[in-house]
Amino acid sequence: MVSQTIDVVKKELPLEQESVVLPEDVVTGLVLVDIINGFCTVGAGNLAPREPNRQISAMINESARVARLFCDKKLPVMAFLDSHHPDKPEDPYPPHCISGSDESNLVPALQWIEKEPNVTIRRKDCYDGYLGSIEADGSNVFVDWVKNNQIKSIVVVGVCTDICVLDFVCSTLSARNRGFLAPLEDVMVYSRACATFDVPLHIARNTKGALPHPQELMHHIGLYMAKERGAKITNQISFGAAK
Ligand SMILES: [Zn+2]
Repeated sequence: MVSQTIDVVKKELPLEQESVVLPEDVVTGLVLVDIINGFCTVGAGNLAPREPNRQISAMINESARVARLFCDKKLPVMAFLDSHHPDKPEDPYPPHCISGSDESNLVPALQWIEKEPNVTIRRKDCYDGYLGSIEADGSNVFVDWVKNNQIKSIVVVGVCTDICVLDFVCSTLSARNRGFLAPLEDVMVYSRACATFDVPLHIARNTKGALPHPQELMHHIGLYMAKERGAKITNQISFGAAK
């Protein structure tokens, strides 16, 4: 039933993905969204997977590989880590990723990036990394990161494709279109290093307050909506000489 639905959705909302070669002569930044225990490590918390999940494991492996490529080239990397004050719940979700807990830390496969000089870590207490980068004085850590590094394009990866990744992409594209983010031009979502969570309909029906969230379908819709806003969706990235 679910697989038939996915086939229909993919037919109605076709998503052609590009193979992207990142030119070596302009600065590309990598944005890692919430690749933390509380969303990715089995049994780590209220919003962590209950059992091993192929889409999430593939996302972790692929993001770690891409992070290594960017770090080897000393390119700028920004990592958003969902981190909430215990007294400030994030509706409609149960308590998750409380500041100082291991839930709000990077997954083991990515912990090494914290020691890399080209990596900026931003702890945020909302879905959207763009809004979560606003400081009390009105400055924005993400906007400053783009400008200080003269970033021309960004590659976005992480979880969840249809929530925190999508929200960040939408805000970033709006800000770019309003002229706040020069010299940023391209926002790319690397689909193989994105994932979302799985709550099948029959589970949601038996869980108070839960919304159904079929994983493959929501991943596809998240990518489609990012594309609708003007993001490039890619299933292959590599570095190469400028055209
Ligand atoms: Zn959160």
